[in-house]
Amino acid sequence: MTRVVRVGDVLIGGGNPVVVQSMTNTATADVPATVDQIRRLQAAGCEIVRVAVPDRAAAEAIRETKREVTVPIVADIHYDHRLALTALDAGADKLRLNPGNIRDPERIMAIARAAGERGVPIRVGVNAGSVDRRFLGPGGEVTPEGLVDAALWEVELLERTGFREIVVAIKAHDVPLTVEANRLLRQKGDWPVHLGITEAGTEWEGAIRSAAGIGILLSEGIGDTLRVSLAGDPVREVEAGWEILAALGLRKRGPSYVVCPTCGRTGIDVPGIARAVRAELAHVTAPLSIAIMGCPVNGLGEAERADFAILGGKGFGTLYAHGVVVRPKVAEGRVVAEFVALVRQEVGEDA
Ligand code: SF4
Repeated sequence: MTRVVRVGDVLIGGGNPVVVQSMTNTATADVPATVDQIRRLQAAGCEIVRVAVPDRAAAEAIRETKREVTVPIVADIHYDHRLALTALDAGADKLRLNPGNIRDPERIMAIARAAGERGVPIRVGVNAGSVDRRFLGPGGEVTPEGLVDAALWEVELLERTGFREIVVAIKAHDVPLTVEANRLLRQKGDWPVHLGITEAGTEWEGAIRSAAGIGILLSEGIGDTLRVSLAGDPVREVEAGWEILAALGLRKRGPSYVVCPTCGRTGIDVPGIARAVRAELAHVTAPLSIAIMGCPVNGLGEAERADFAILGGKGFGTLYAHGVVVRPKVAEGRVVAEFVALVRQEVGEDA
């Protein structure tokens, strides 16, 4: 069991539910744009938001941003330890430090003391792309052992000051490398582990790489919080994070969809209907199961087991609620509207 670390009002580790995080891609000093994006992230289920702190203006902007949002804010610090101190003064709920580019032990310990006084935790975030040379293999290669040693080097400095509010992350683009490093890390101590596959790619390949890497580790009981890194709208990172947790049966938020792949038997536009239903119900947070199936072959069983279902016929759909037919034959053009109305009527959440 890992130790528990508090970030604002969110608990990480110690068997608490795996926390979904993301990171803004607005300029942090642009407070209105950052606040707007944080609100969108929070609406999608993001529980902790990280912001980049490339300069003093960004660090100071955290103060104003925090007045506008309720989700805990993590200041992402590289190179300059003074930015960490400014971010703490501005009210950051957590710091992320990269041991690859703040290397002076005295400066790291100064951050630990300042964070400790405020009860603010620190994530030691090792990234294969910026790991310090000292921790590379003889030929300059990145190894699981080197990544773990890089993390432990900074953890030891933090703990030397008596600081214990530590979360550790080791991320690489390479999935097997990330998995091996995190397995090794987990054997070394009880720090909560933040999972992610870094620079994973755009939505499609990034979500798949992340699901593979994060999924392996979570299924082994490793990982207390996660961030799916995708190039694009960070809201998609949050959605992907929840999808991974739901697929593993760890946490559920909003509808999970059973959708048939379609085949020569399909008589209605299953993918189109599924996309439209998903978009219409995007705001629903109740953990529902929804089946959208093209025909009775596998559809009957799925429709009967789901909370709500559409079972396709030739140009029509049969609507189910809790395993029972509630509308036997709805013309294809009306299926989405009637189905969405049915779900909304039951879950009581307005679009
Ligand atoms: S549920 Fe029916 S339409 Fe869908 S893939 Fe299976 S057999 Fe084909």
